[in-house]
Amino acid sequence: MKAVLRGAKPGPTVAVIAELDALRVPTHPGADAESGAAHACGHHAQIGSMLGVATALSAPELRNALSGNVAFIVTPAEEFIDIQERLALRASGEIEFLSGKQEMIRLGTFDDVDMAMMVHTSAVNGSSVFSVGGTSNAHVSHQVRYIGRSAHAGGGPYHGINALQAAMLANTAINAQRETFRESESVRVHGIISNGGASVNAVPGEVIYEGRVRARSIEALESIAEKVIRCYRSGALAMGASVEVRSIAGYHGLIQDPTMQKLFVGNAELVLGRDSISVVGASQTHGGSTDMGDLSTIMPVIHPYANSASGIGHGHDYLIEDYDRAVVTPAKVMAATVLDLLGNDAQAARQAIDQSKPAMTAEQYVSVQRDRFKTELFEQV
Ligand SMILES: [Zn+2]
Ligand SMILES: [Zn+2]
Repeated sequence: MKAVLRGAKPGPTVAVIAELDALRVPTHPGADAESGAAHACGHHAQIGSMLGVATALSAPELRNALSGNVAFIVTPAEEFIDIQERLALRASGEIEFLSGKQEMIRLGTFDDVDMAMMVHTSAVNGSSVFSVGGTSNAHVSHQVRYIGRSAHAGGGPYHGINALQAAMLANTAINAQRETFRESESVRVHGIISNGGASVNAVPGEVIYEGRVRARSIEALESIAEKVIRCYRSGALAMGASVEVRSIAGYHGLIQDPTMQKLFVGNAELVLGRDSISVVGASQTHGGSTDMGDLSTIMPVIHPYANSASGIGHGHDYLIEDYDRAVVTPAKVMAATVLDLLGNDAQAARQAIDQSKPAMTAEQYVSVQRDRFKTELFEQV
């Protein structure tokens, strides 16, 4: 979904983004009874702040000050979850990439956009209201299917090949690899068993393990993923099972634009005062991943955090405590930043565009992502 507000004069287009999705956290107090979906990452606040920016900039005196356009874009599926369902959509041709911004880059939603910003909520940590700067991890997803042989678990387990044991051995092998991960690469390797077998009285003949590898750079990611895929195979090797590993193109690390960040920080200081903003170094990562990282490979972006929640992100206790901090203040600061970028004949926006060096074009991005999908089969059964 995209709506464009046109300024009085032509010029660059700045996107203000809001993410639409939730997570499955059934124990969250706000969880939907059927799906378990809950706002355990605070994306609902983003819609509020985006609408706040749209309301402010629609005022004629502000709109008339803009040399350029503001695109309000809502993006689905930032949380890289429900992999099997999304792979089914991919198989049916409805989507190609598994996240909203990835797919929208492919579909051309950002073709007429020059730069983008959004504000994400975060848990309150100390006195700062905004945390600005830093990066995020790149990631790749693995859909790992162990194929064994089902057999009666009591009457004839020796006829079976246990796909669950193969997956568990693989997990042990991954844990044995952890000492080889470099701290400087912020490596995270984690997974879930999304299908652990069909019934307790049968040797599991098929098991699905969903794995994820994260690291600061795509290069580091590739070398760690190679090791992890070797571990997946080792479990199958030991049990005499087969294993199919599908690698699914995940996110790129986030690069934040210094010109946009400086304007955002200046406006945050005007609204809140100097001590309310913490700026972290460009290389600092908190380990998570976002598809704003993908967007940052093709245009200048910023992705500040509004510290407004209690609890732990993605946890059952993550709740927005202060909607003024989560919604209203980010709206004010983003609206003022758009005015800085597109006011004064859009000099600041043009400067940011001129100085930024995106790693690739949208077309190159799509081709890089396509190449990251692959399926490997290690056959023993
Ligand atoms: Zn999240
Ligand atoms: Zn989030």
